[in-house]
Amino acid sequence: MSEDYEKLLDHALKQIPKAVFESSRYQIPEAEVSIVGNRTILRNFGGIASALNREPEHLIKYLLRELGVAGNLEGTQAVFQGKFSNTAVNNRVRRYAEEFVLCHECGKPDTRLERRGRIYMLRCEACGARASMRSV
Ligand SMILES: [Zn+2]
Repeated sequence: MSEDYEKLLDHALKQIPKAVFESSRYQIPEAEVSIVGNRTILRNFGGIASALNREPEHLIKYLLRELGVAGNLEGTQAVFQGKFSNTAVNNRVRRYAEEFVLCHECGKPDTRLERRGRIYMLRCEACGARASMRSV
């Protein structure tokens, strides 16, 4: 690859709106889980919440309810009172993304979760769709 071509490519990439570029490489990090005694520690919880662009408190509330256990945040890690495999945690994270991150109309992740009192609305910045969310 010539230096000129690389410069051109670099320049071209800068012209693409950020949201479009990000949605094209959108991916949810795999859960990194450790089981310690009877507890499961989701070590990269903070990374998952920021990749999903959602509040950690909202995500953990959902995970605890779906897993049916108590737990809490410890720094950037989530701790669940119970033993869960990577797959069990990943499945819940993916379901969370489908429900609370990906637009229900166009499937893009360029959405915001807006709070209106006790109600959350999912608003898509790509297509403008809105959907009201059940509470977690
Ligand atoms: Zn949309």
